[in-house]
Amino acid sequence: MIVIIGGGISGLSIAWFLQSKGIPVRVLESREQPGGTIQTSFQQNYCVEHGPNSTLQKPGHPDDALGRLIHDLGLESRLQVANDLAARRYVLRDGTLKPLPASPPAFFLSSFFSWQAKRQLLLEPFRPRSTTEESIATFVRRRLGPEFLNYVVEPFVSGVYAGDPEQLSVQAAVARIYALERDHGSLLRGAWHQGRLLKGAGLPKGRMISFDQGMGVLPTTIAQKLAPGTVRTRFKVMSLTPAPQGHWQIYGVQTMQEGRVAGKTEKIVAKAVILAVPAPAAAQLLAPFAAAAAHTLQAIPYAPLASVALGYQRSRVGHPLDGFGFLVPRLEKVALLGALFSSTLFPNRAAADQVLLTAFIGGATQPTILERTDKALIQQVESDLARCVQSARPADFVYLTRYTAAIPQYTMGHLDRVQRIDAEVARFPGLYLRANWRDGVSVADCVRNGERLAEQIVTDHAAFFAGTVVKSPLSEPGGDKG
Ligand SMILES: Cc1cc2nc3c(=O)[nH]c(=O)nc-3n(C[C@H](O)[C@H](O)[C@H](O)COP(=O)(O)OP(=O)(O)OC[C@H]3O[C@@H](n4cnc5c(N)ncnc54)[C@H](O)[C@@H]3O)c2cc1C
Repeated sequence: MIVIIGGGISGLSIAWFLQSKGIPVRVLESREQPGGTIQTSFQQNYCVEHGPNSTLQKPGHPDDALGRLIHDLGLESRLQVANDLAARRYVLRDGTLKPLPASPPAFFLSSFFSWQAKRQLLLEPFRPRSTTEESIATFVRRRLGPEFLNYVVEPFVSGVYAGDPEQLSVQAAVARIYALERDHGSLLRGAWHQGRLLKGAGLPKGRMISFDQGMGVLPTTIAQKLAPGTVRTRFKVMSLTPAPQGHWQIYGVQTMQEGRVAGKTEKIVAKAVILAVPAPAAAQLLAPFAAAAAHTLQAIPYAPLASVALGYQRSRVGHPLDGFGFLVPRLEKVALLGALFSSTLFPNRAAADQVLLTAFIGGATQPTILERTDKALIQQVESDLARCVQSARPADFVYLTRYTAAIPQYTMGHLDRVQRIDAEVARFPGLYLRANWRDGVSVADCVRNGERLAEQIVTDHAAFFAGTVVKSPLSEPGGDKG
């Protein structure tokens, strides 16, 4: 049996892909519900996303593990594709929300960018490549100039990573953008080439998706459709040790609702173990026997973040909310990082005469703001929203979710750190690490990485698992044998 520690989307996807190959798995999750960061709740007619609101799916693309997962789970009828208005993304510029030009002709015709920025873009194909690791900020300044950095890339980086472009590595955090320069010598040439490839292959562009009852549908359905007994919640893994004959001993405790320990330590023995947990949690479990990997994992920083869902009667918001949402460049001196127009994106997020916004505050560029009380944070968000979308204060409904460590930051040296972790972990057969601190933070990335890891494990353990078929609920905790 393979044990997966962590029942977020990474752990659940790995479990799904392994089990669909006939390999028995068990998922151990410390919280009450599976899903990790993906949690949806329904409150006062509003569909509140505590973590991700949507994710980018690329139908037909070879990497579209998410599409395969949705199909296998039978979730196609519950899938929601974002409203066409999602193509419009606003950016705050000079105190006003302005739509970001969405195509090359719109870019040159729009007054959003200065003529200097337009000239910089025309010159981009002629700029030399760099061969050393750069921060996103250095890369963008070099290729596209400061205006692109300040008004497009920096807000985009806070939208995805809640991160600081001066700190994040272009190779690690936006690998696909970096590859355009590496493979084509220019972002424009590379983007044009990729567009032609997609068209040639008849593949549609990516689409933002969610589900009829929000993102929580995805982890909940995986957990329900795995073999009965696969996912054990409220079970916190406390330690892990390599055991004789290539097995692993996992020690954990059942916890109460508030995280208190509810029983004595149980031992589970597994043939292989996958740590699908945040980097600090993985570091803690590895420290006793793989100290160097643990130390390197500890060096991966996380950005703090608060997500605030705000509901209003439609008439209490002046802006038409006709888009994906808006992002706030730091130059604009507004605390808010941005907000999604959640009820525009997907149906049934609010009643017909109401709207729902999801705002984000904090991030790597202003970590101390989360030291404020809930009340002060909410007041800040309401006041910034009033400036940006002319919403009345206070909101009719507010729900705040705080994360002290929300999103891992792929800072300079990240790829080197991941390589060093892999090298040390490779000394321990049957030990694997996979979660959003490597190879992409989006939900779709986590699912794709889960599928890849499952394939790797099948290859690594082909002889051991030959003939294994999952038929019945897994054995009781405490007495499992790998
Ligand atoms: C506010 C916010 C908004 C986001 N928005 C988007 C978005 O719009 N689109 C998008 O694609 N992505 C978004 N993301 C990113 C995405 O949601 C995450 O990267 C992804 O869900 C992480 O999944 P994971 O399984 O790797 O980690 P997690 O979700 O962190 O799961 C790890 C699990 O491990 C468990 N665990 C930890 N230690 C132990 C232990 N010792 N024993 C047992 N269990 C343990 C935890 O309880 C947790 O459930 C967002 C993230 C945040 C925080």
